[in-house]
Amino acid sequence: MTNTSSSPAPALARLIEQNRSWAREEQGRDPGIFDGLSATHAPVAMVVGCCDARVSMDQALGVRPGEIFYHRNVANLVRPSDAAIGASMEFCLGVLRAPHLIVCGHSRCGGIQASLAGHSDGDLGRWIAPVRSLVGEVGEELEALDEVADRVEALARMNVVRQVANALRHPAVQARLDDRAHPLQVHGWYYRIEEGMVEEVELPRERWQKKGLLPG
Ligand SMILES: [Zn+2]
Repeated sequence: MTNTSSSPAPALARLIEQNRSWAREEQGRDPGIFDGLSATHAPVAMVVGCCDARVSMDQALGVRPGEIFYHRNVANLVRPSDAAIGASMEFCLGVLRAPHLIVCGHSRCGGIQASLAGHSDGDLGRWIAPVRSLVGEVGEELEALDEVADRVEALARMNVVRQVANALRHPAVQARLDDRAHPLQVHGWYYRIEEGMVEEVELPRERWQKKGLLPG
């Protein structure tokens, strides 16, 4: 059935109503907030996250509009051939000079589960091909884990490390790592949906320094 009226469907009407009260409350709590946001764009971090609807970083981190610059895709990938994320990094890190770059994976990730299951159909299959390749590389390590949930978590964490490494190879990131006036820090995070908690993922920084991906 086609909705021919100009008013939104009830479920969407609720969202619009909530938007109006949110905007009024924000303006009441912090008068001029929207004027300020209109005048400046100075995020403290770029977060590369998954599309998963259960991961809402603004709320989880308690940040205000304007603090985090997001780039989201299935399984939080930084693919060298992906102009969308390249453009985001050029703008956020090269132009806005955000001081932190965070790749954030999460528990129960559908993209990670599909990769583990060898899903290769359609656009999703094409998109997660690099994660399937990662499964091929670390298969023995994953198979050593008895529980499927543990494999999903281990792969999600390994994927974060891989995606940070990919980000480090991007010219926009390399330029910032060389820019002593505007230092950039890179981080790997893992968000646990079951607890709403973010954890640091350990990164092989020394290995990356030896490879020249990070300054020594
Ligand atoms: Zn996900």
